[in-house]
Amino acid sequence: MYAVTKVIEFCYGHRLLNYQGKCRYLHGHNGKVEIELSSRTLDRRGMVRDFDEIKRVVQAWIDQELDHKMLLHRDDPVAPLLRERHEPVFLLDDNPTAEAIARLIFEHAASQGFPVTCVRVWETERSVAAYRPDAAVRRRPRAGRRAARRRAAARSISTAA
Ligand SMILES: [Zn+2]
Repeated sequence: MYAVTKVIEFCYGHRLLNYQGKCRYLHGHNGKVEIELSSRTLDRRGMVRDFDEIKRVVQAWIDQELDHKMLLHRDDPVAPLLRERHEPVFLLDDNPTAEAIARLIFEHAASQGFPVTCVRVWETERSVAAYRPDAAVRRRPRAGRRAARRRAAARSISTAA
């Protein structure tokens, strides 16, 4: 398996709802995103994907949609106030944690046809969250799933006994 990782930096503000720590207050981060693409084979250029292509598509989207924006939960009561003041806001269906931001960027990269396997968001130099779909579930061939079900059935029988 080959893999390439593109690193993109962006600044964002956020706050978390239903949270007791400091992150319940509006604040910002200098975030770093790692976008990992994987492939069993290389294209005719000998690449998984051209780094420039990832930059052109994914970084452009991050720059436009997320960079220097407040990333807020859709239900955050401050969102309408910021919008009224023409402050740039990006709304998420979930709390805007690093995990949720990783998933958001993963899904955008995947929707653009990139063979993305993992997105990591560094919220600080010491804190990183990742989104990676369950490859074992997603990629297991049908026969493999049947065998797994047989194994699970065997396990439940032996547990029952
Ligand atoms: Zn934060």
